[in-house]
Amino acid sequence: MSLLDLVREPIRPLTAYEPPAALPPVKLDANESPWPLPAEVCERIARALSDVPFHRYPDARATALRQAVAHQVGGAPDALVLGSGSDEVIALLLTALARPRGGRERAAVLFPEPTFVMFRIAAAAHGLEPIGVPLAHDWQLDVDGMLAALRVHQPNVVFLPSPNNPTGNTFRDEDLRRLIEADRGALFVLDEAYAAFARRSLASWCDAHENVALLGTLSKIGLAAARVGWCRLPADLAVEVDKARQPYNLNTMSQRIGTMALGELAPVLDEHVARIVEERDRLGAALRAHDRLTVFPSEANFFLCRLDGDPDALARDLLADGIAIKSFHRHGGRLAHHLRITVGTRDENDLLLEALAARL
Ligand code: PMP
Repeated sequence: MSLLDLVREPIRPLTAYEPPAALPPVKLDANESPWPLPAEVCERIARALSDVPFHRYPDARATALRQAVAHQVGGAPDALVLGSGSDEVIALLLTALARPRGGRERAAVLFPEPTFVMFRIAAAAHGLEPIGVPLAHDWQLDVDGMLAALRVHQPNVVFLPSPNNPTGNTFRDEDLRRLIEADRGALFVLDEAYAAFARRSLASWCDAHENVALLGTLSKIGLAAARVGWCRLPADLAVEVDKARQPYNLNTMSQRIGTMALGELAPVLDEHVARIVEERDRLGAALRAHDRLTVFPSEANFFLCRLDGDPDALARDLLADGIAIKSFHRHGGRLAHHLRITVGTRDENDLLLEALAARL
């Protein structure tokens, strides 16, 4: 008997989430904003943090941040669950909403694939059954496949990220609506991590549907370091999910920075998003000029590309040039030969394009 035998069964076969490599000069592998906050903004943040009462626990309700998020996504402040990144909120949802539906032995969690790998990892780690339904050839939802999975597996939670990571596309409203209306006993979590880049939000769907939740984060729009994420839920469900939360999950610094980001700093962050959207068009066109790359349309801050060749080798070569991108080759299946490139600053994208011209 070893201590490793104490590890719960679903954990052992999992592969740990692979954090991106150490900081290369040009970092286009993690869907972060390429823009550091302006020095003047950093000074404002430093001033706002200068009187943090470090000897006190944080506000367990994160009252000011809660208000700011509610203002952003609608609904009552109490209908929100806040977390250290949406990663934590995903884990909280799966901790609380894990009671199997009628007649089932184990609660299921449904998502299209390929998608953000944490849906599968978090479901398995919490002892729920992850069910992935392959996306259609154009990376849109296979609605019939999803409807069949809803019938067969009766999932507790369905994750639908739009725009989806790593495919970059949004899903069609009518497809989302058909799924949401097909199973009122499941919670449909619309993950809007990249919605700012698609210039639209489905937040109002929370008012129109009792089984819809909205997941959001500050990570992609310029504040990945602060780790602030949230979920807008039906109010009665939020109360229950919030019971699973550690009381001080959001530290005082993150609460303050998050509140500023959604308030006085919003114009700066919006301007960065607008620049990324503009660069996305230019970068997409330039990448499409490479015969060996198939570049999928993107409404997010990254491009999924199919390489006629070995994307692991290309990622290694580019890293030697000081540029990190993400290869999905070893994930296999639909993602074999695929890689993902985050939209950088104009200068970073030019460096990438130069390196690609030499390497491809
Ligand atoms: N949802 C999606 C679709 C993502 O791609 C990510 C990050 N890669 C997250 C959620 C988690 O983001 P965070 O924990 O930084 O809020």
